[in-house]
Amino acid sequence: MVLPRFVFTASPRCDRVSRPAEVPDFRWLHDAATVPPMQLDGVFLDMYGTLTTGDKAAVERACRHLVADFGLAMTPPELAVFWGDRFFAMLEEASHARFRPLAQLECESLVVSMRELGISAEPEPYVRHLVDYWRCPPLQPETREVLAALPVPTCIVSNVDTDDLRTAVDVTGLRVGGTVTSEETRSYKPDAHIFEVALQRTGWRRDRVIHVGDSLHSDVGGARAAGLRSAWVNRAHRIHDVGTDEPDHELADLWGLLQLVASEVRARKLGT
Ligand SMILES: [Mg+2]
Repeated sequence: MVLPRFVFTASPRCDRVSRPAEVPDFRWLHDAATVPPMQLDGVFLDMYGTLTTGDKAAVERACRHLVADFGLAMTPPELAVFWGDRFFAMLEEASHARFRPLAQLECESLVVSMRELGISAEPEPYVRHLVDYWRCPPLQPETREVLAALPVPTCIVSNVDTDDLRTAVDVTGLRVGGTVTSEETRSYKPDAHIFEVALQRTGWRRDRVIHVGDSLHSDVGGARAAGLRSAWVNRAHRIHDVGTDEPDHELADLWGLLQLVASEVRARKLGT
């Protein structure tokens, strides 16, 4: 089945996310001036669900409209799972020669899902809810403070379309050193190629990088495929995860990352 390229125009700027006026001083955890972070060249960070809240609310918002508009005999969360199964199956096969942008995959998988339910639907008005979320995602409460306090460089490595991530970083004022997207690399985590490009761009040594993310499948599995250490952010009330990969570190939130990195710095200083 060949579907047209779906195109989403730019969203209006989001007012509800404002840039931080100032960030707290966390030098009690480390002293970047005297303790060089020698064991880590940098940290790769997943974006959605890790630095930001997950997409559950946006997906269920889209599904609420679909259920209402087409009188579906299922709940929005049930439709979200039905659509999600088809989306993730498509995503798994969408790297390299078969690459399509994320918004396109959402549209294609929604068309397929609705067709299985006997309905022909134009996907754009519904996928628009996801695009708006990607472009203006609410940050996790600790994200700004942790990024400001990390004593090592950071680079976002995200399964997302490039313009959407650039907009999100701009709108939220996130302080990160760089970004690498699936669209730029034609590779979706857990495919290792996106990490290889991130390593090439940053120049960081493979054994001196930790990738941090909320998905056992995409982040932990992808880091392992690329030979990177991984830290799994296992937040309370997180979405269902299909992955079974074992992370090297498990964190309750990003404060845990700060402690992990600070302990690496301290260990280096002590020569342990
Ligand atoms: Mg994520």
